[in-house]
Amino acid sequence: MAEVALVRLSKLYAGRPVVDAVDISVRDGELLCVIGPSGCGKSTTLRLVAGFITPSAGEILVGGRKLSWPDGCLPPERRNMSMIFQSYALWPHMTIAENVGYGLTLRRLPRAEIAARTRTMLDVVKLGSLADRYPSELSGGQQQRAALARALVIEPETLLLDEPLSNLDASLREEMRFELRRLHDEYRYTTIYVTHDQSEAMTAADRIVVMNEGRVEQIGRPQEIYEKPRTEFVARFFGGANILSGTAVDPSALSVDGVTINAAEKLFEAGRPGALSIRFHDVRVHAARPSGASGMQGLPMRVARRTFLGPTVDLALEHAGGTAFRASTSPDLAIPADGEVFVELPAEKCRPLQVRAEG
Ligand code: ADP
Ligand code: MG
Repeated sequence: MAEVALVRLSKLYAGRPVVDAVDISVRDGELLCVIGPSGCGKSTTLRLVAGFITPSAGEILVGGRKLSWPDGCLPPERRNMSMIFQSYALWPHMTIAENVGYGLTLRRLPRAEIAARTRTMLDVVKLGSLADRYPSELSGGQQQRAALARALVIEPETLLLDEPLSNLDASLREEMRFELRRLHDEYRYTTIYVTHDQSEAMTAADRIVVMNEGRVEQIGRPQEIYEKPRTEFVARFFGGANILSGTAVDPSALSVDGVTINAAEKLFEAGRPGALSIRFHDVRVHAARPSGASGMQGLPMRVARRTFLGPTVDLALEHAGGTAFRASTSPDLAIPADGEVFVELPAEKCRPLQVRAEG
C-alpha cells in the first residue's frame, strides 16, 4: 500500500483545462471520496491516476515514485492498481469465478492458488454459492460485488472506483455503501472513490474532496465539509445552505443590510465583500423578534411559501435585499397573517466563506 500524491495535476482538452492544477494527497490506507457535479473532471482525474491518460502538466507519485508526468507515463498494467467502472465490465462468457480469477490467470499463477484466492474473495463479497453462474444470471448488486472481488483479488496497491454504485437501485446502493466501507476496513487499500452522491461520500469516506470545474474546492473529513464549508459552491452542493453576502466589518462579522451578523470563525477581511453560509435547519424562525432578546442576531424576512413535509415545514423566505432564503422549521410555528417573521441566525452556525481565487 502507498500514499498517492497528485501534484499540480492538469489535463487540457482542446486547450480547455478539464483538470486544473489539482493537489490531492491520499494517505496510505485511506479511502478518499472525490465528489462534484457531472463534468467537473472526476473521471478524468481517476483516469490520470490509473495511467490511461497522460497529464498536460503536473505529476502523480505513488509511494514517492513518479508514475505520471507530461512526457511519460507508466502503463496502467504496471501500476499495481485496480479500477472499477460504473458499468461492471464482467466478461459475459465467463463464470463469476472465472471473471474474478482472470487477473490472476493473466499473472500466470498456479491453478490451485488461483482457485483458492478466487474462492476466498468470492466468500468475502458473499458470492461463494454463485461462483459457477454467468454474469447474466446475477442481479445488478451481485454483479457489482463480482466486479469488486475481481478488483481486490489481485491485491492492488491502489483501488480506483468510478461511480461504482450508480447503476444500482436505491436500496441496494445504500447497502453497498456500507459493504464497500466494510471491505475497506478489512483490506485497507489506498482508495480513490469517485461519486456524485453526497450520502455515498458521507458513508464511505475517511476524507472528501469536493471538485468543481476541474478544481479542488475543499478537502476535509465528511463532518468538516458539512459543518464548515469554505466556499459557496461547497455549502450549496454539499447539504444545501443559505448564503448571505455583505461587507466585512471585522474578521468574523459581516454587515448585511445594515445589520451586523457575527460568524463562527475569523475569515473575513474588514472593508471587503464577504459571504457566509447557514444550513436550512440551523436557521430559527420566530413569529416576531422575541422581546428582551437584544443579543439575538438575525434579519426580518417575509414568508414566500410554506411547504408541509411531515416532520418539518420548509419555508421559502425573502429578505429586503431580495435574497432568497430557506428554513426548515417545526410544523407548530404559527406564521403571522402578514407573513413577516424574524429569522434568527445563531453566530455559531454562520460559517464564513472564502471567495474563490481566480486565475
Ligand atoms: P465527471 O467524471 O466529473 O463527470 P469527466 O472527467 O468525465 O467529468 O469530464 C470532464 C470534462 O472533460 C467534460 O466536460 C468532458 O466532456 C470533458 N472530456 C472528458 N474526456 C474528454 C476527451 N477525451 N476529450 C475531450 N473532452 C473530454
Ligand atoms: Mg465521470
